[in-house]
Amino acid sequence: MSHLDKSYKNEEITVFWKPEVCIHSGNCARGLHAVFDPARKPWIVMENGTTEDIVRTVKHCPSGALSFEYHEA
Ligand code: SF4
Repeated sequence: MSHLDKSYKNEEITVFWKPEVCIHSGNCARGLHAVFDPARKPWIVMENGTTEDIVRTVKHCPSGALSFEYHEA
């Protein structure tokens, strides 16, 4: 992981974002704007969406900048 990488958690998952990899396609913001809003700081607010919706949106990131992992039970 680069020192620029960021992580965001909810109860179930952690989402990772690699700014150097992001191509700013906007897929995430279009897909789930309440959670992914590039104009806001922090730009990812996990509380604003369900884990299911966040996972689906992360999987549609074309560059691989977004990834996630489930927390261990
Ligand atoms: S979908 Fe991925 S590449 Fe596109 S803006 Fe979001 S994080 Fe960046």
